[in-house]
Amino acid sequence: MDFDFSEDHKLLQKTVRDFARVEVAPHARKWDEEERFPKEIVPKLAALGLLGIRIPTEYGGSGMDTTSYAICVEEIAKVDGSLALTVASHNGLGTGHILSFGSEAQKQKYLPKAAAGEWLAAWALTEPGSGSDSAGLATTAKRQGDNWVINGTKMFITQGSVGGFCVVLARTAGDVPKQRGISAFVVEHGTKGFSASKHLEKLGCRSSDTCELTFEDVVVPDSARVGEENAGFTDTMKILDRGRISIAAMALGLGYGALEAAIQYAKDRKQFGKAIGEFQAIQWMLADSRVELDAARLLTYRAAALADAGKRYSLEASMAKLYASEAASRACNRSLQVHGGYGYTREFPVERHLRDAKICEIGEGTSEVQRMVIAKHLFA
Ligand SMILES: Cc1cc2nc3c(=O)[nH]c(=O)nc-3n(C[C@H](O)[C@H](O)[C@H](O)COP(=O)(O)OP(=O)(O)OC[C@H]3O[C@@H](n4cnc5c(N)ncnc54)[C@H](O)[C@@H]3O)c2cc1C
Repeated sequence: MDFDFSEDHKLLQKTVRDFARVEVAPHARKWDEEERFPKEIVPKLAALGLLGIRIPTEYGGSGMDTTSYAICVEEIAKVDGSLALTVASHNGLGTGHILSFGSEAQKQKYLPKAAAGEWLAAWALTEPGSGSDSAGLATTAKRQGDNWVINGTKMFITQGSVGGFCVVLARTAGDVPKQRGISAFVVEHGTKGFSASKHLEKLGCRSSDTCELTFEDVVVPDSARVGEENAGFTDTMKILDRGRISIAAMALGLGYGALEAAIQYAKDRKQFGKAIGEFQAIQWMLADSRVELDAARLLTYRAAALADAGKRYSLEASMAKLYASEAASRACNRSLQVHGGYGYTREFPVERHLRDAKICEIGEGTSEVQRMVIAKHLFA
């Protein structure tokens, strides 16, 4: 679908689309089957500026806006949900937290390495006992002189084992409402007591690295604290707002990727002496997907435009993420149906798109959480 992007955004879109077609699409199925994070693609992502999308140029990044961030994720997701998740989370979560709330010293230390792909970023909020209720986290960081000692377990952390650093949310005060006693810390891989303990096997996005992390008496200096003490949860909500735009964009890419494949298949596949695309039942499935994905696209790029204009966009990001993720799942499911039995095999990419799309309804706040956020705004 054409969108009224600026010339710069159109050029970016074409560049990333070409990159995805040439460098990613031919390998996506193999990476998925091997359930292996494709380290070999990292230097290529970095060379194109896709690992420092919003990082200012003075820190070695591309200095682009949120619309660009969404465009990059959408184009990659058209061919590979796993890599789109990597690009979305690296840029938006771990790196984004330091970019938005880090000290100047932290920005100088981490952002150039992140943009160069030397250090991928992880961001650890979720725990075995706290997901949607993210403020209920149990990981602690206790002051010890000028240092902090971190203890706890984190669950489902993207880039957990392949990342160079991790921004971890931990409880730093217990005698206040739970949202007000959380701080963020940056912990480097190799720090004593910090380990990626378990690689998780998943339904989709199988070549994205997802791990359980453990922190056992991990000692970091106070200079590793990202943002104000006990303000970590407020900062986290802002990080998730922008992150949700990227998950909406990922959903769009997966949905459009599956739709394009289904249109092509409907032209090629013949039954009853005709291309199946001539049957109204098939046409209506494709038409419904196109309408829903275009609607999702308008929501997504509206949220991105608000972010770029420096306006509030929390509600709009939740609406985009909710609608785009559910629209993408429906579109992928219909596309698989159009492919019939062949869609159920791994020969065609639609089954992977369907599996990959499901995470968009779960990560960075489930659909139920988005509805709670939206309703909260309605009653505010
Ligand atoms: C592949 C993958 C990558 C991820 N990457 C990261 C990452 O990099 N960093 C990170 O911190 N986290 C990450 N996550 C975690 C993700 O954000 C959580 O899985 C998500 O927030 C849901 O938490 P949960 O899995 O504990 O589910 P739960 O919170 O236990 O929810 C279970 C069900 O109950 C529903 N529910 C819960 N509370 C309510 C309520 N009040 N009202 C109605 N329904 C409710 C939920 O919507 C859901 O349907 C990742 C997850 C996956 C699967």
